[in-house]
Amino acid sequence: MSGRSDDHHAIRPTADHPALWSSLQRALTQAAEDRQEIPCQSDDARLWSSRRREDREAACWRCRTCPVLEPCRAWVIGVREVSGVWGGLDTHRHQHLHPNAGRAP
Ligand code: SF4
Repeated sequence: MSGRSDDHHAIRPTADHPALWSSLQRALTQAAEDRQEIPCQSDDARLWSSRRREDREAACWRCRTCPVLEPCRAWVIGVREVSGVWGGLDTHRHQHLHPNAGRAP
């Protein structure tokens, strides 16, 4: 996820899933304190919202190295209303995200 305001691939708080949101925020804060790389913040963020399947597959693979993969995946499965790649899942491929959705890209 990028901090750029014009980025469509941006995590936004949701009132529907405050626990998932809080968990993800804590993980992101810890990663920042530990100076860990968040791939979608440090790579070409366009991969995560690209219309090209190959780009999204590359983003899925990069997510697998992310220190906040699990809380990010839990969040996107909870909110269901985002598009692009989140938590290693391509929401274009997993239109009906649920807790058992693809365990690996
Ligand atoms: S798991 Fe993927 S989408 Fe989620 S924060 Fe990490 S790199 Fe970004």
